[in-house]
Amino acid sequence: MAFKLFKNGDELYESSKELIKRGEFTKAREYLVKSIDKDGGVDDVAAVQVALIDLSSRLTNVNAYQNLLNALNKLTSSSTVEFGLDTIDAEDLKTECALTIRKIQLLSSSGSGSELTEKGKALQALAADYQTRIGAKSLIVTGLFKKDTSVTGNTEFYNLMAVSYETMADGAVFDNPQQAAEYQQIAAGYRQQNGQSTEENMRKVREYSRTCTCWMCGRVATGEGIHFYSAPADVSPSLKDSASSAADSRADTKHIYICRACYSAISNRSDEISKRYYQQTMQQMQAMEARLQAEIAALQSQIAFARMGR
Ligand SMILES: [Zn+2]
Repeated sequence: MAFKLFKNGDELYESSKELIKRGEFTKAREYLVKSIDKDGGVDDVAAVQVALIDLSSRLTNVNAYQNLLNALNKLTSSSTVEFGLDTIDAEDLKTECALTIRKIQLLSSSGSGSELTEKGKALQALAADYQTRIGAKSLIVTGLFKKDTSVTGNTEFYNLMAVSYETMADGAVFDNPQQAAEYQQIAAGYRQQNGQSTEENMRKVREYSRTCTCWMCGRVATGEGIHFYSAPADVSPSLKDSASSAADSRADTKHIYICRACYSAISNRSDEISKRYYQQTMQQMQAMEARLQAEIAALQSQIAFARMGR
């Protein structure tokens, strides 16, 4: 067998398969790119493999999925792509890329109030697409690069439905904490179906449904952490709870409940007072600094005078 210094396109393409199997993606990518430049190999499959390798280190990057989708759309020589020991269905991967792009874009968007309600609805539409278009099949990318085949179209459905209701809860909590508590309860149901913890959801359900009587103004407020707060205070045991209704006005002898309005009024006033003290202190320090500078200057001139006299 003759010794060859340079591999031709076919040989590079074949070698890259071995490298991918061994997980040597950097070298495999190099070989694949060279095989595309030279004659030989299967260029459209190689382009998909390059895009997959590029995706492997950027699993939350929209552009990486878009590049892979573009390469898949140009694939005509085969309906499948080999990647290491896996054979991937090109149409399945296209579906997954398109859904993942939507998912990343939706999850990274932000907003408040009704924008969050809209985001929640869009997440539900996406969840339904995962369920109908991927269903019980495992996600390909997660299987390839995270070696996890437990994530399927159906588990993504439950996951995204939970996130959707949590998002809508965030949107509703300011105007309607009761509604937000209901949304959190529904989200917990989806998390449970997915075998995930519902602790955070249930904590919010409790907080959003909790009602108090403000210690200061006596108004009834619902939604702890949003519409009322528990504030540290020294409550004498002999002080009776001022609440006449069922809602308490203190948590214990160390905390009282204050509604958002009273709380913000106190915070704003105390900020004003702090600012005034800060300015007074700064003025006094500046005056002191000027006095000290003057004394230093006087001392320096006395020293200079004493030296001259020697
Ligand atoms: Zn109040």
